[in-house]
Amino acid sequence: MRFHILTIFPGMFDSYFKESLFKRAQKAKIVSVRAYDLRAFTKDKHKKVDDRPFGGGPGMVVKIQPVWDAVKKLKARSLKKHKTRVILFSTRGKRLNAKMAQRLARYDDLVLICGRYEGVDERVAEHIADEEVSIGDYVLSGGEIPALVLMEAVSRHIPGFLGKEESLEEVNGSFPTYTRPEVFFPARGKKWSVPPVLLSGDHKKIAEWRKGLRNAEK
Ligand code: SAH
Repeated sequence: MRFHILTIFPGMFDSYFKESLFKRAQKAKIVSVRAYDLRAFTKDKHKKVDDRPFGGGPGMVVKIQPVWDAVKKLKARSLKKHKTRVILFSTRGKRLNAKMAQRLARYDDLVLICGRYEGVDERVAEHIADEEVSIGDYVLSGGEIPALVLMEAVSRHIPGFLGKEESLEEVNGSFPTYTRPEVFFPARGKKWSVPPVLLSGDHKKIAEWRKGLRNAEK
């Protein structure tokens, strides 16, 4: 899986992908991640990625031209048999969930367009993006965090991405976990214990306890 991020702040991604699972997965060639500077695709001498909105109003709008040129170049470079999906982050997009993450994990290339300012010229949504994605019912200042969230959610479903220390747990299959010490003494006279069933060694009982909690939480 190759992630291609289109952004005016490519530097924001540097440190994140140098750590942890993404570091390992990139080394193992399971995923590749590249952030491209939209400014590099502008054609005017001031390298302007934004402009004023038609009809008036506050703020600026990300221009369509650099987005189009970047996507065109990426698509031209990709092999014919590759399955590519172009995603635009938008507050009006479809809400990201586990099912969507699983579906997106089946593509070879994901192009992630990060908006900024007041948003992106709507013609990007109309003609360039295959789908619009929102990560939740709130407004952020840019699509960069949404891109990170989507990549985290999607990459877990790519075979080989998770090491053996991490499991692909389903959202509905999650349960609380504890580790040593069995009893923690935060202050004099206080103690916080692990549920005794987890120390019983009875795997059937433990499975039932975990399942019971899940059902109780629903
Ligand atoms: N006025 C715009 C909000 C712009 S926020 C609107 O009505 O949609 C600037 C950019 O941040 C957006 O273009 C989008 O790419 C990103 N963004 C902000 N909140 C987001 C969210 N909840 N999910 C996905 N992307 C978001």
